[in-house]
Parts: sequence; structure tokens; C-alpha cells
Amino acid sequence: MKLDSPLETLSRIAEPERKALKKLRIKTAEDLLYHFPTRYGDVAEMRTIGSLQQGDAVVVFGRISKLKASKGFRTKITMGTAELVDDTGKIQIVWFNQPYIAKMIPEGALVRVEGKLSARRAKPSDATRSPLHATPSLYFSNPKIEKVTSVPQGVGDSLFGGEGESHHLHPVYPESRGITTNWLFHHVQKIIASGILDSVIDPIPPEILEKYHLPTLKTALIFIHAPQNKDHAVAARKRFAFEEVFCIQLEKQKERKLWQKEKSFTIDKGEEHIEMFTKRFPFPFTNAQNRAISGILEDFRKGVPMARLLEGDVGSGKTAVAASTAYAVITSRPKDQNYGTLQVAYMAPTEILATQQFESFIEYFKHLPINMALITGSGCRKFPSKVDPSGWTDISRNQLLKWVKNGEIAILVGTHALIQKSVQFKHLAFAIIDEQHRFGVNQRKALVHKEIRMPHLLSMTATPIPRTLALTIYGDLDLTVLDELPPGRKPIITEPVAPKDRDATYEKIRKELQAGRQCYIITPRIDEPDPDKEFAVQARSAKAEAKRLKEKVFQEFEIGVMHSKLKDTEKERVMEEFKDGKIHILVSTSVVEVGVNVPNATVIIIEGAERFGLSQLHQLRGRVLRSSHQAYCYVFTESMGAKTIERLHALKTAKNGFELAEYDLKFRGAGELSGSQQWGVSDVAMEALQNLKMVEAARAEAKRLLEEDESLSHYPLLQSHLAARKKEEIHFE
Ligand code: ADP
Ligand code: MG
Repeated sequence: MKLDSPLETLSRIAEPERKALKKLRIKTAEDLLYHFPTRYGDVAEMRTIGSLQQGDAVVVFGRISKLKASKGFRTKITMGTAELVDDTGKIQIVWFNQPYIAKMIPEGALVRVEGKLSARRAKPSDATRSPLHATPSLYFSNPKIEKVTSVPQGVGDSLFGGEGESHHLHPVYPESRGITTNWLFHHVQKIIASGILDSVIDPIPPEILEKYHLPTLKTALIFIHAPQNKDHAVAARKRFAFEEVFCIQLEKQKERKLWQKEKSFTIDKGEEHIEMFTKRFPFPFTNAQNRAISGILEDFRKGVPMARLLEGDVGSGKTAVAASTAYAVITSRPKDQNYGTLQVAYMAPTEILATQQFESFIEYFKHLPINMALITGSGCRKFPSKVDPSGWTDISRNQLLKWVKNGEIAILVGTHALIQKSVQFKHLAFAIIDEQHRFGVNQRKALVHKEIRMPHLLSMTATPIPRTLALTIYGDLDLTVLDELPPGRKPIITEPVAPKDRDATYEKIRKELQAGRQCYIITPRIDEPDPDKEFAVQARSAKAEAKRLKEKVFQEFEIGVMHSKLKDTEKERVMEEFKDGKIHILVSTSVVEVGVNVPNATVIIIEGAERFGLSQLHQLRGRVLRSSHQAYCYVFTESMGAKTIERLHALKTAKNGFELAEYDLKFRGAGELSGSQQWGVSDVAMEALQNLKMVEAARAEAKRLLEEDESLSHYPLLQSHLAARKKEEIHFE
């Protein structure tokens, strides 16, 4: 058996497991070895039934029987009940309000039960029961239950007549429907036992491992799946985190080096020149905006293509920075040419945003003798129109392509329609990507393809992320942060709302709606949870909430629904109706368009706020920042625990999204950190991002290595490891 052997060569795999493995993207032995536990349960918490006591939080393995769905005698609460047996005793299980659980586990199945023990007052008759009823008054209340095929080693031995107690930490793996932690555990152990680890090759140079006291790959793989103690687990995770961040840094730094070898357009415009443009705006630019513009102008003069990320909260005025720097480009002539201009491409993620941006650009640039155009999936436009030079006109795609190619269009705005091969520029000098996180890496790359020279690239985003994450995933970009909002905006009033104050809050909102304002309601889910799904998240859904509000609360208003499963055209229709005021309340999942401008929407309700990260909450409330009316954000929570109150206080007082992103990173458990997939970073690496020192070390080592040996010719193992990572990426993109 080899690392890249398919798992089937290891053991027979049943259909449900095959499906689950596919979902978890596990194909080979190596994939499984890299499927890391999310946490470790201590075997100490694995117990026999005979030893249980009230208040214990434990894991018990046993056989289940007497499964029943019933109703409480007096309370009328529906519940599921069952009995669990091992060699040392019996115990009752009760699932309040979850009667269906009793139907999901077959009678007599071997199960793993994890939960807390409650006790009811013992009935007198209990004393007369057999010794097997060691704990008659104890019961599991709403425990997690999982069917298993066998009891884990080291536990089973002692539980079911085996010998010796093991003190290993038992790993708990990310599961998927059809596959359990136990299955994963056993198969990983089988792979390790096969001796295959002797053939793994460590891609990280030994001197680096030594310098940072990191275990070798082989040791780390054993440590992560079968740690003898906590230190092992920690050391292993640290190593894998370092490895990942180090590799990402190598990739990014390499790209950066390649990029900087390219020739670009030298655009030499000073601040005084740009002032002729900026002074036409009805407001003074913020210091942050001016700094960003100066930085970009400086990059433009270097002759090397710029690659810069502009991060700024919603409403921080990124468009004005993009437009002012675009002005520098379209007022520059191509080299050795005394006519025409250099060209700008501006890509936005949706038709609504692209169209909105095209209209803004007409306002900004209409006083100049240039042509602008818009390209989206549904058509093309050009400004100025020949017939009416104050407005735009529809043109054919072919006409547009011709004008872009011969250089007559100075600014082309569009959706991803902009990156089709047929769209060719004559002198594309500056490419701007708005809401860049909405595009895939390949789409971003496609926009800056080389014509003769490489265009300068400005990527813009409002997604607040912690500094360590930015340093890692944007290691190939220079960073500018707009850390200042334009003055005079009324800050959003943010109010946490406890369940008992829900109705009163609806009445406040009704007043706003009656005054002609509009409202967003954000829910954590699209649909009601599938009642057959075990432990499905109980949270409000967009569809059901919209129905409930229409029937019970806001009968007099139009309510729309929006979520990711709608077709794009449908989404745009709903947004359009909301924008036009035909819909008063938009109930939506968190997909609601970032950056869409509906100034009349001044209220946002966020349901189930516990389920969102603070930076995500901050972004959501940014939807109502665009108005001169006072904006409100009501944060509905299902509980008001100390932690919730503390988090929501941070939300109320934080100055910007970046502060909140740091807070999220620090205070939410690493497993809870939202979006590791979104960033293309594993959970283990996400954990590492809490450690600025480690990220900086990985970055420094990557830089040093590439400076000494740009092609990594002395590090063939590292080279092939990077190549394999890349293949993986392309495969899953
Ligand atoms: P974002 O950074 O979210 O893209 P926009 O560029 O859309 O923000 O700007 C939001 C609003 O703020 C726009 O209406 C814009 O005209 C306005 N704005 C931008 N800069 C300033 C400024 N310095 N002072 C006042 N208003 C500004
Ligand atoms: Mg914007």
C-alpha cells in the first residue's frame, strides 16, 4: 500500500461511506491521513454505565433498546425515550422535544452516547431492582447519539471485559452524513499500522523544523491522530499550521516575484493633476482616501505592474479612490502616441452593481472627451450616445468589442462578461475589481491577462479580515486600508434584542415602515430544518419567517424573500423590486448583495445573531448605512448569556470591521471561526492565524528561501509538494 493508494485497497467501503468520503474529499490513504481531528475527547470521559453520577458529562458505548416516541404525562411535552445497556448496567435516555430521534436508531444497535446526566427523584420501587439497575434515578437528557460499528480500542477493552485502561486522547473527526468519527478513527489507525508512514517525505527543510522546534511529518501525523498527551496534539497542529501557512506564503511570494518581473505602463501623474478631478466632487476626500490615492499614483510611476488590495468598510468610499486613479490613467496617452488614452477595466460581481457603477462613472467623467461602455450578460451600452450626448445608448456586442479593441473606449465597466476571450483591449493599463472576494482566483487572473504589458491591478473589498489572514492569503498583494469613514454619517444605532422584547421591536419598525422606510431581515437559514435530520440546526429560516411575518406581524406590507438557491435572474428581480420600493421588507439569508445601494432601507433585523461572526454582523448592518436617515440594526438573539452580551457590546462600540475581525479571531473558538473554506485555508491553519508570530515567521522563512533560491532548485521535495498543492487547488476550483 502506498500513500496515493485509493482507500478501497485498504478495506471494503460501503456505499453510504463512499458518498460521505467523496463529500469530505477523501480518496486516498494520504487524504485520510490529512483529515485531521477537530478536537480530542479524553478517554477519561468515556465511562461505564455503572460508574455514572449525576452532573457528569460523559461518553458511553452500549446497546440501545426500548426506543419509543411518547408524550410527557402531565407536561404533554413530546419526547423520545430509550434504554442503554453495557456490561455494567442500564440507563435511561430522554430526548425532550425530539421524539423523532427514537425512530432513527434501530433497536439493538451499538451506539455512542455523549451528554450530561440528570437525575430524577428515585421512586421507592427502584431500591428493589436488580443490581444491574445501578443508577435507577439517573438519565441522559438530550444526549448526542451515534450508531457505531464497534467500540474504539482502548475503550472497548476495558468496557466489555477487556483489560487495562488507556489514557490516549481519542480524536474526534469532522464527520459527514454516512460516516462517523469511529469509522474514520479505525481506518486512520489501520493506515498507520500498515507502516506506510515510513515512506512519507517531509517537504519542510529540516533546518526550519529545528529552528522552530516542529516535529517531522511522520511524527506529526502520528501525534495528530493518536496523541499520547495534549502536548503531542498541540505540537502536531502547530507543525501542520506552519506547513500550510509557509506553503501559501511560498506560492504567493513566488507569484509576486513573477508579477514584478513584468513590464507595465508608466503613468506619471501627480496629486495636483488628480485634484482637477477630485475637486468636482461635492465633498472633500477623507485623509484615508487621499493616502490611498497617493499610494496608487506612486505605484503607477514605477513601470512595474501594481498589485494592490484596497480594504475598506462599506461606505468608506472605495469607488471615489478607484475613479480618481482611473482618471490618472485615462488622461495619459499610450507611449509614442499623441492621440487616444490608456484604458481602464472595472469588474463588478453582479449586473446591478456593474450598471450602478457605470451610471456613477458617467457622472464622474462626462465632462471629459472620452467614451465609456458597459458589458454584461444581458447587453452592452455606450456613453455618450451619438443621438443624445448627455446619455448612454444600447449598442451591439460586436460594436462594443470593436471599439474596445481599437482603443476608443477608455473605461469599460462590466460583470465577468468582461473577461471573456473575445474582449480584447488595445492599451489596458488599469484593471479594477470591485468586491473582489466574490470572484474566483481564475476570474481575477483572467482580467489582468497580458496584452503587451501587464495592467496595474486594484482589488477592492469590504470584507474585514484579521491582519494575519490578510498577510497569508493576500501575500502577493500590497495592502491599503481605508480605516476612516466620511464624516457626518449618523452611526447605525445597534440594539441587541432579547426574546421578550421581540414584539415591542416590531412595533418600532412598523413606525419606520409607515414613515416610508424599508427593512431587511436576515435569517441564518433558507428552509425549515428537515425534521428527519438528526440534530438539525434549529434556527429561523428565510422562507418560513417571511410567511410568519406576512401572516402574523406585517400583514399590511409587501414582503420579499431572497436566498442563495434562487436563480441569479430571480435574485436580481427581487433586488430590483426592493430597490424600487415595491417590496417593503426583504427577508434574506446573508447572501443579500454586498454593496447594493438601497438608501431607503434604514432598518435591519438580524435573527439568530449567535450564529454569525461579529465581522459578518458588521457587514450585514452595513446594508443600512447608505442613507441620510437614522439607521437601526436590531440584533435578535436566542439567549442573552454573558458571552453573547459581551460580543454584542463589541459590535455596538467597535470603530470598524477590522477591529471586529480581530475580536472574532481572538474570542471565538478556532472551530467556530467562520469561513475557513471561504478563504481556502484549512481549519488548522485558521487556528494558527491567532498567532501573529508564527505567521510572520512562516512569511519570513518563505521570503528568505526564495531570495536564496528563487526556483527552489535545492528543495525538490518542497517543489513537488507545492506542485501537488496546486493540482489539488485546480482540481477543486
Ligand atoms: P464603498 O467603499 O462601500 O464602495 P462607496 O464608494 O460606494 O463606498 O461610497 C459610499 C457613499 O459615500 C457614496 O455615496 C459616495 O459618494 C460617498 N462618499 C465617498 N467618499 C466620501 C467623502 N469623502 N465624503 C462624503 N461622502 C463620500
Ligand atoms: Mg463599493
